[in-house]
Amino acid sequence: MSAEIIDGKAISAAVRERVAGVVAETVAAGGRAPGLATVLVGDDPASHVYVNNKLKACEAAGIRSVHHGLAADIAQAELERVVAELDADPEVDGILCQMPLPEGLDPEPVLARISPAKDVDGLTPLNAGLLAQGKIGVAEALEIEQGGPPIGLIACTPSGVMEMLRVTGVELEGAEVVIVGRSNLVGRPLASLMLAANATPTACHSRTADLAGTCRRADVLVAAVGVPELVKGAWVKPGATVIDVGMNRTEAGLVGDVDFAQAAEVAAAITPVPGGVGPMTIAMLLANTVRAARVAASD
Ligand code: NAP
Repeated sequence: MSAEIIDGKAISAAVRERVAGVVAETVAAGGRAPGLATVLVGDDPASHVYVNNKLKACEAAGIRSVHHGLAADIAQAELERVVAELDADPEVDGILCQMPLPEGLDPEPVLARISPAKDVDGLTPLNAGLLAQGKIGVAEALEIEQGGPPIGLIACTPSGVMEMLRVTGVELEGAEVVIVGRSNLVGRPLASLMLAANATPTACHSRTADLAGTCRRADVLVAAVGVPELVKGAWVKPGATVIDVGMNRTEAGLVGDVDFAQAAEVAAAITPVPGGVGPMTIAMLLANTVRAARVAASD
């Protein structure tokens, strides 16, 4: 293996420390600790692990959290009522509704109950639109201490990827970036952030004609697909940086969307799974909660 391993645990720990510093300063100045509300519907084991990790990270950073665990058979209207109530609660700065929802529940009207100022997942049309229109730059997106734009919360995983690339010192200006995946959660917002960083992004998807050939052009290759080890070593340009967003639970354990062993032979730098993008997502959620709280405090 020749690639440098990009250590998501270490990079995320630094973000969490900065967040904890901002929270401590706020509280020392007589302010209220930021509050995050999490909503988890049903008993999907992976979702439980994600939410528990987020709650633990909140506690460590001094962020208050309130958790709502709801039964999988909850009525759509009742779920929307819970989220609307949290949205109206002045003690709640950010709301995270863990996706996917159990079958039979429609996520769109639930997310519509979250106002953009509390949308720490960056999924509302206003937040996603501000990013898509280039109204938010990368520096603002990654700012923690100064606050960034008053609205414009960005999806946590894409901003986590940008922070990893920043810390690793990967040059993005003029770089060819290929993202496999075009979801609203990862692929699309990441493509917008890459444009904001003056890279040249290509977003691939299930209908892309020559996926391997397109990936081979990438100076930075990001896989956010949900197909275990789809991206092979032969798809990686020698010297590229490879970011594996995938988290697939298989019989062999948690694996990414990249064939790590193969890709690490070719890439200059690569993220592992676990210990790569996953911890970054949690750290950026904390950062978004602090931003949302700062905006609420200034209202
Ligand atoms: P998603 O909503 O299912 O989107 C998957 C994307 O991949 C879609 O755009 C789809 O294309 C594309 N795709 C699927 N199969 C493909 C194929 N064979 N070839 C090319 N493109 C293909 O998934 P997501 O929410 O973005 O998540 C992607 C992965 O990241 C999953 O493994 C998820 O668990 C992981 N994830 C990790 C974190 C983290 O914190 N590390 C956070 C979020 C997600 P179409 O649009 O054409 O259908």
